[in-house]
Amino acid sequence: TDPAAIRNFCIIAHIDHGKSTLADRMLQLTGVVEPREMKNQYLDRMDIERERGITIKSQAVRMPWEYEGATYAFHMIDTPGHVDFSYEVSRSLAACEGALLLVDAAQGIEAQTLANLYLAMEHDLAIIPVLNKIDLPAAMPDKYAAEIAHLIGGDPDDVLRVSGKTGEGVEQVLDRIVEEIPAPEGDADAAPRAMIFDSVYDTYRGVVTFVRVMDGRLGHREKIRMMSTGAHHELLEIGVSSPEPEPTAGLGVGEVGYLITGVKDVRQSKVGDTVTLLNRPATQEIGGYQEPRPMVYSGLFPIDGSDFPVLREALEKLQLNDAALSFEPETSAALGFGFRVGFLGLLHLEITRQRLEAEYNLDLISTAPNVIYQVTAEDGESHTVTNPSEFPEGKLTEIREPIVDATIIVPAEFVGAVMELCQSRRGDMQGMDYLSEERVEIRYRLPLAEIVFDFFDNLKSRTKGYASLNWQGTGDQAADLVKVDILLQGDKVDAFSAITHRDHAYSYGVKMAGRLKELIPRQQFEVPVQAAIGSRIIARETIRAIRKDVLSKCYGGDISRKRKLLEKQKEGKKRMKMVGTVEVPQEAFIAALSSD
Ligand code: GDP
Ligand code: MG
Repeated sequence: TDPAAIRNFCIIAHIDHGKSTLADRMLQLTGVVEPREMKNQYLDRMDIERERGITIKSQAVRMPWEYEGATYAFHMIDTPGHVDFSYEVSRSLAACEGALLLVDAAQGIEAQTLANLYLAMEHDLAIIPVLNKIDLPAAMPDKYAAEIAHLIGGDPDDVLRVSGKTGEGVEQVLDRIVEEIPAPEGDADAAPRAMIFDSVYDTYRGVVTFVRVMDGRLGHREKIRMMSTGAHHELLEIGVSSPEPEPTAGLGVGEVGYLITGVKDVRQSKVGDTVTLLNRPATQEIGGYQEPRPMVYSGLFPIDGSDFPVLREALEKLQLNDAALSFEPETSAALGFGFRVGFLGLLHLEITRQRLEAEYNLDLISTAPNVIYQVTAEDGESHTVTNPSEFPEGKLTEIREPIVDATIIVPAEFVGAVMELCQSRRGDMQGMDYLSEERVEIRYRLPLAEIVFDFFDNLKSRTKGYASLNWQGTGDQAADLVKVDILLQGDKVDAFSAITHRDHAYSYGVKMAGRLKELIPRQQFEVPVQAAIGSRIIARETIRAIRKDVLSKCYGGDISRKRKLLEKQKEGKKRMKMVGTVEVPQEAFIAALSSD
């Protein structure tokens, strides 16, 4: 295809603002999906995506569009909508020349959308603003058109008004794509370079890699080379999705399509990497390639210890399709054998956990998530700590923690509530802007550790659900952090150690000690439950001893009843964990970890 007739774009939208529905209308209008084959959210194929109503993996769809007598080839590139996948979003944007900014006309723009809009503007994409759902009685297109014009410049009248549901205005969107989004440019004669913006694992075909060709051409049966690793593979298939995969002879400048080489692991086909030809290699990578970096770690343990091998296999399988997932075995005195797993963020953690439970039938317990700390000991040695158990003992000269820049959009009446929350989470206000008279964008710098737990839930409840949040890592800073240990009868319970700010250590200690006192049954002897920073005890509770022996209840009773009781006790013990000399039912640990 002549690059002049190609238009590459993505749709930037908040969840539920109607991206999938608009895409459905485009598939229909361009005729790539037959009316009788049409079903809602046609492109949302992955089951989990349907379940959660979010897009995890991006896809590219090729559609023809007639405009003033000429036929154009559109490539619509789907972008993940969530903050955890921001690197993938940036790669999808880098594959496009333009973006539709899709905003629900009854809701207005949300923080996530704003963040992605800024990212698109940084990539110099042409932005076509579109208000969706104008058929809704609650739609306020004039108000939100003004808001959008204020953000991106231009006239509120240039903001398109459509309904993905009724189809109203959608043809005009397609025309505007031809008019306003620049054609891709590249050197057709140069050594080929294509950027990977997504790669997904398919059980039958192995890894399917989505690329945007920047220069030159990639052809069927040619040998390609991955520039980050030097690994090479043969192109068993190359093609475009329209939206079903259609093999072609090759892909040229500006084209977007897929490659299949038979590799079985997405880590061999990394998002952001540059593909070139083995025999005619480009010298310069397209740039911007980053290894996926876990931001949050949590221990995952099977409730039934015998499921450990199943968990290992399940994690290995998930990794085939998720280059950002990392894990290593971990042993906990309290929880047994499990894995320390690294995630891009909390949603990533939640999705992974949900898949392990649903697809592999595992019952799991996860420890409180923590971020990565850089700890310098007195001897000058620096440690990367991803697990509280790795926190060095003794005197420390510096502890650094990751920080983020967060953007929160709320109705003006909630500004005070949001500031109070951010302040209580060690936030540092960076600025505030009115998007319109009643909506405000508030910017804070916050420690990542303060927002990975219950920040979003808290924000939602303080703002009656109106706030939207986005954040982006911006480096790290020194902080006064300590490790709090929880001890039973003087022995550490590893699963409960936590790294917290010194000001929060006491409340964490009191909370956990109180919880365990409630959950752990009385023993034959008195058991102190303590919270400690190093050797200093900061909180203490006591589990009092049981007065009577179990058997004494049966004093004078018949022998068979005694035997039954003993048997029952033995059974119960199977699921007991020993912490030093204290017997703790596993349920107690699970309950202590899962309550808030
Ligand atoms: P996505 O999360 O951005 O992909 O949003 P969907 O396309 O899945 O739409 C979210 C919800 O909004 C669904 O219930 C759609 O039926 C509904 N919806 C999407 N577009 C419109 C529209 O133009 N008008 C109305 N009334 N509802 C819409
Ligand atoms: Mg969708």
